[in-house]
Amino acid sequence: MEFVDRETWGAPAASAAGFLGSARGVKIHYLGTGYESRGHPRCADYVRQVRAAHLADVREDYVDIAYTACVCEHGAVYEGRGTHRRPGANGDKELNGRDYAVCALLAKDGGGLDVPPAAMLHGLVDAIEWLRRDGDAGSWVGGHKDGYPTDCPGDRLYAWVHAGAQRPDGGRDDEVDPPGTYTVRVWDSLSVIARRLNVDWRDLANLNGIRPPYTIYPGQRLRIPERPGGPVVPPYPGVGAFVIGRAHPAVADLDTRLVLRGFTRHHDGDGYQPGRVFTEYTRRNVADYQRSRPELRGDPDGYPGPLTWRLIHS
Ligand SMILES: [Zn+2]
Ligand SMILES: [Zn+2]
Repeated sequence: MEFVDRETWGAPAASAAGFLGSARGVKIHYLGTGYESRGHPRCADYVRQVRAAHLADVREDYVDIAYTACVCEHGAVYEGRGTHRRPGANGDKELNGRDYAVCALLAKDGGGLDVPPAAMLHGLVDAIEWLRRDGDAGSWVGGHKDGYPTDCPGDRLYAWVHAGAQRPDGGRDDEVDPPGTYTVRVWDSLSVIARRLNVDWRDLANLNGIRPPYTIYPGQRLRIPERPGGPVVPPYPGVGAFVIGRAHPAVADLDTRLVLRGFTRHHDGDGYQPGRVFTEYTRRNVADYQRSRPELRGDPDGYPGPLTWRLIHS
């Protein structure tokens, strides 16, 4: 846990906020404004700005930054009012006396940094664990919108909170999914994932207990519904489909299977994306897949033959 105490980021050591003996739990917030991703050295500066804006808010008459803590995209936890201080961000006095308030430095949808990176989710869990340990917070975790009319903390964080606010341990690049499962690695809609898995999205939702608004999050491991009649293997397109630097529709299909199975560690630095061009990255990811299968291990050249094609579609 990277903990930045008040004095380190530039606030007086003790908060002037009222005493809070214990709390039911922790409410998660987001900025809900525009916010651009930035280098970590500039995060403390932003937290200072949030505090200055809160102190300047005449209507709310805040005595300090309203949050118990803020968490940046890099996962650092900035001490706000801190433990055993009543927060000012949950809506009213009663709500503020019930739960701590932790704010992710995250934009509203379309406002810049609007997708919480894994490091931020780890930082939020760090903050929750800290408040339980040192602040007598109970086990309850929710969003600002629980019991108060607001969009905060946005659909993505809210879904993550209500799925149990877990650390995003699944879905690392180097991890291969067990058969019959799929780990969500980027934020996608349920329908996009269902299409990738070639299953009906309603079956996928039912099997995994996903309810409206059908939001899913990175690190979530889904069970893949069985298809009646088994998997459908498209016809092998021929070796001519897989030539370095050349485009072919079968390559996009191949890429999708590689992503699905987690063979994506070779890429141009921006993550491995399905595309029609057979690149050296594609070839190396195929070679990884071939090395993972006993039937293919003897010749992991990275060029899909008929057996590689059939197995990767099965
Ligand atoms: Zn909020
Ligand atoms: Zn940061």
